[in-house]
Amino acid sequence: MATLFEHENVAGYARVAVERGVDRYPDGLTYAIPPALADLAVGERVTVPLGAADRLTAGYVVELTRSTDLDPKRIKPIKDRDHATRRLPVELLDLARWISGYYCAPLGMTLAAMMPAAVKRQAGLVNKTMVHLLAPPPAGEKPPAKQRRVLEVLAELGPAQHPVEIRQLARLAGLSTTGPIKRLVARNLLGVTTRSSVEAGWVKQAVDTTCPETLTPQQQEIVRSIGDTLVGRFSAHLLFGVTGSGKTEVYIRLIQQVIDAGKVVLMLVPEIALTPQTGGRLIGRFPGRRVAILHSGLTAAQRNQQWTMVVDGTADVVLGARSAVFAPIPDGRLGLIIVDEEHDGSYKQDQVPRYNGRDVAVRRAQLARCPVLLGTATPSLESWHNATIRASYTLHRLRKRAPGLRLPKVTIVDFIEQRKHRRDRRIHLLGPILEGAIGSTLDGGGNVLLLLNRRGYANYIACPDHQCGWLMGCDDCDTMMVYHVARLSHGEPVGGYVQCHHCLTEQRLPATCPLCDRKVTTFGLGTQRVEAELQRKFPELAEGRTMLRVDSDSMHGARDFHDALGRFAAGKIRLLIGTQMISKGLDFPRVRLVGVINADTAINLPDFRAAERTFQLVSQVAGRCGRGTEPGRVIVQTLAPDTPAIRLAAAHDYVTFATGELADRTRCGLPPVTRMARIVCRDKDYERCRRVACTLAGELKQRAAASIRIHGPAPCPIARIAGKHRQQIELLSPTPGLLQDLLTVARNEGLIKAGAAMVVDVDPISML
Ligand code: ADP
Ligand code: ZN
Ligand code: ZN
Repeated sequence: MATLFEHENVAGYARVAVERGVDRYPDGLTYAIPPALADLAVGERVTVPLGAADRLTAGYVVELTRSTDLDPKRIKPIKDRDHATRRLPVELLDLARWISGYYCAPLGMTLAAMMPAAVKRQAGLVNKTMVHLLAPPPAGEKPPAKQRRVLEVLAELGPAQHPVEIRQLARLAGLSTTGPIKRLVARNLLGVTTRSSVEAGWVKQAVDTTCPETLTPQQQEIVRSIGDTLVGRFSAHLLFGVTGSGKTEVYIRLIQQVIDAGKVVLMLVPEIALTPQTGGRLIGRFPGRRVAILHSGLTAAQRNQQWTMVVDGTADVVLGARSAVFAPIPDGRLGLIIVDEEHDGSYKQDQVPRYNGRDVAVRRAQLARCPVLLGTATPSLESWHNATIRASYTLHRLRKRAPGLRLPKVTIVDFIEQRKHRRDRRIHLLGPILEGAIGSTLDGGGNVLLLLNRRGYANYIACPDHQCGWLMGCDDCDTMMVYHVARLSHGEPVGGYVQCHHCLTEQRLPATCPLCDRKVTTFGLGTQRVEAELQRKFPELAEGRTMLRVDSDSMHGARDFHDALGRFAAGKIRLLIGTQMISKGLDFPRVRLVGVINADTAINLPDFRAAERTFQLVSQVAGRCGRGTEPGRVIVQTLAPDTPAIRLAAAHDYVTFATGELADRTRCGLPPVTRMARIVCRDKDYERCRRVACTLAGELKQRAAASIRIHGPAPCPIARIAGKHRQQIELLSPTPGLLQDLLTVARNEGLIKAGAAMVVDVDPISML
């Protein structure tokens, strides 16, 4: 047989984007297609030899060509196709190309991110034994009755139903075991093959079927007006409605229209946290329809199953978190994309490719020529700008809560003022007003939600002597260590350790100050400290185990979280204290009090979105309240009660907030009025880090259009993490196009490379 290197023995050429490394845009390496793979299609996953050592690497076919300009003798052949995985739809390949260009990510890594790991390794594959008829029994021979029945059943089944799975065949022949079939196989009358497949299985959910009798006139109008755009064309809509105003109901009606027309709906929700409820509601409202769910709380086998059902075109609705924006819906089937809570930061991926799921959704809708609907009670300034000043999105508003629901009354409490009224010297995180409200809410049968966006017990470990001034920092980061207690006993901390929240190293809590030997103290706040205080002030909560702390220390994975929310919804847990995990989208009718322990945790961060985040956090958590028939109450504790973000969130006044904030951003030339990219250089050696960053900034300045502003290099707000120094360069451009041009040039010249030493973040949302 001729070797595959001889070009006459080649069925064509393919551009393959390998999963690892190789960054050039547009990207792809040319390989020869051996005759055995002549039917290879674009979007297939393949293995190819890479580099001098021909190391086998997985990649994706992104283009097929009959000929090549390269010397055919030097082109390596594709080793094999991945027989187990389905090919990616062409719409996804186009999307990957865009992401690769826009977010400066290698195409192969982008495609690799589109296919879940569970799919690549075919988790949960079930091997089935399939049986078919080989030969009739020799003339004159009469097999035993059971074997005869098997042969009869097989003869009756039409050719379309061959081969038959062995247990199913036994059932059809009325047998309790597969023994008789196996004996026929042993006699060579039946043949056997194995077939591996992923068992289809719809994720089980608590199903909620409640359906309002009629839509409000506002809802009707929005459903009609967005419904009119379901015509095979791209359009973008922003649905701005206060929490509980019936946005989900609008989504459901639109989903109905799309699936009735035979198309598929893709719905994104920010985090796993939201999926149980939204999932239950969708499944409940579309009995007989197939809702595929893609989120991190599934087992690997389930994830593979759900993905396979989507790629096979079996699912009518696909619901999932950020990466579900890559759901492999067959080409031409996507009819509508919904992005719920579009403002949410968890849509941003913080690894290559550093995409924003919301923005990718808008692009995907453009490629698929369908509408995209972004919904939220607190629009991101990006979307607000698009819907108002730029008018590239259509704005739809739901101004009131759904019938029967009222917005909660929000009280701002001045923390310092409250402290003056305390007699004891102990630090209280629950001021008298909040403490009193918790007591009366619990007595009245209501549930309580408390938010503090900081985990641990205390975020400072210090020497009590101000003259000495020692504070425990992380050895490897320019940050403070945080004290976590091992457990609480009647509200008092027992044991514990200190942790760095950036590199996650842990150490023992030092007993004394390393400089002056005094006994150390801890201060500051954290969810554990609130929990301790609750145990002291409301011992019945601790004793009855009706209180739960929800943060990434107490919850190990999504299933824990589902479980906790389930118990809260059922009233077995009466009070939840947690980080922003609990502030999003949860919808519990029993919640009658929401307390924000400290609304200021984000306001002083060196980040131009600090005010926007604070507004969102306070509004969103307040929105968890009063979803039942009883009106709710919200208490926001703050050290800065006059901060506009806090004051306006309490007044449910987004428009005033957004207008002021947008004016500020315009004045400073910050997003969304401009586009930003942030490049962070990282190195263990400070001098080298600084040098690389300075050179890069210089080179970029030479190539940048005059209207692009380049700041830096300067140390990042956290100047060192995990032993690496960090220098940042910020690029601000009046248009995305100019920014793209600059980044593409820099990339092709090898100036910027995604990798350990450099992070390129386009439209960054974290500025630390
Ligand atoms: P959002 O998504 O804006 O937070 P939802 O769609 O979840 O709001 O609606 C909040 C609650 O109001 C839900 O329990 C929903 O069933 C109910 N609801 C929504 N629309 C109506 C309506 N037109 N009439 C009565 N109840 C409604
Ligand atoms: Zn650290
Ligand atoms: Zn000291």
